[in-house]
Amino acid sequence: MKAHEAVQLYFNRAADLLELSPAIRRLLVVPKREVQVQIPVEMDDGRLETYIGYRVQHDDARGPMKGGLRYHPEVDLDEVRALATLMTWKTAVVDLPYGGAKGGIAIDPRMLSVKELERITRKFIDQIHDVIGPHEDIPAPDMGTSWREMAWIRNQWEKYHGFNPAVITGKPVEHYGIEGREEATGRGVGILTYKLLGHLQRKPQQTRVALQGFGNVGSHAAKYLYESEYKIVSVGDQTASLYRKDGLDIPALLKFALNNKGVLKGYTDAEQITGDQLLELDVDLLIPAALGGVITRKNAERIRAPVIIEAANAPIDPEADDILHHRGITILPDILANAGGVTVSYFEWVQNLQFYRWGLNRVRQELEAGLSRAFDLVWQEARIHNCSLRTAAYIIAIRRVKAATELAGHQ
Ligand code: NAD
Repeated sequence: MKAHEAVQLYFNRAADLLELSPAIRRLLVVPKREVQVQIPVEMDDGRLETYIGYRVQHDDARGPMKGGLRYHPEVDLDEVRALATLMTWKTAVVDLPYGGAKGGIAIDPRMLSVKELERITRKFIDQIHDVIGPHEDIPAPDMGTSWREMAWIRNQWEKYHGFNPAVITGKPVEHYGIEGREEATGRGVGILTYKLLGHLQRKPQQTRVALQGFGNVGSHAAKYLYESEYKIVSVGDQTASLYRKDGLDIPALLKFALNNKGVLKGYTDAEQITGDQLLELDVDLLIPAALGGVITRKNAERIRAPVIIEAANAPIDPEADDILHHRGITILPDILANAGGVTVSYFEWVQNLQFYRWGLNRVRQELEAGLSRAFDLVWQEARIHNCSLRTAAYIIAIRRVKAATELAGHQ
């Protein structure tokens, strides 16, 4: 199933419960703007390469649009559209004054030099600078991008529009970024894990965790969970999957990855397993924090974890979601589970607009408060409708976007 079709299916389940008319459904579903651009770039060896970049702006009823920029070979318009739509529901469920957008370039950043990446990024901004801006659409990091690309983007955009660091979030801290942004998504996953498992009466020390993905989100989630005394028995990335029955030494793994180009391959103090085995382990909690579409109808019956936290965007496709739901597996949906990143991006944007600096403690406190409020509402809504946490989160989000759309009028 295509990524956008999958997001639509989740939307429709909640829209049915809200009894939305076909006209309102269509209005909420059709993206406001989709941009596809050509990025011709001279490579280090003098060759000319042409890449394709996308920016999809889904909805701005609740405020300027917000969403990451992904560098990955599988990026295409359908995926970017799905992720932009998810951002609309994500910003609404945590009640940030934003709409949703997403961008991406179909490249494998690991195969490119830093200079090539910089040229590609700047050329992309040359093509889209007119449709982004602090009050229109504010990009941020996603898979394959980080503070480095955000600094280039700000610099390139400012060449056209003048100084305004609020055009982008996820910037380096010493360059108008905010402390705590880099850890925010993983930390948010940790905070929400603690809340959800508390409601399910599971203690950290008795919770065995398997975590797929050890990049920005996965590594920070692992750190937070390890420090909160969860027993992480398995972690994996694109290069290796590791298992240790008595729990992995997460500080040692973080240090190892840091000195090993960010990857786990070569770590010896654990059993090697396959990526599929990691997902199907007999654990108490599974956290997919890498790619979308990793749990499908093909492996859903073999998933043994009774609780799944969707740290990645769209890791479970709707057919698998149905199977897991009927098997009584509790799923914390992506639009809430990984909303920590956009929440702290919002703090960074506010800080830039106010020319005022927040400290790390304040960022962490407000992150925890915002996510806890959102979690409590979603939990209650699921009780009221006797539905999954995913449908409950969509109900809250759709209700908020619909209200803002109607207040603005359609004429
Ligand atoms: P990242 O590029 O920093 O890390 C991605 C990780 O996934 C790496 O460890 C990589 O090795 C691993 N991976 C890639 N392919 C894999 C495969 N086939 N099998 C196993 N592991 C694989 O990306 P990130 O920022 O950590 O993002 C991870 C997910 O979280 C994405 O779905 C992203 O959209 C989502 N997300 C990220 C943020 C953020 O703030 N970074 C916010 C919200 C959602």
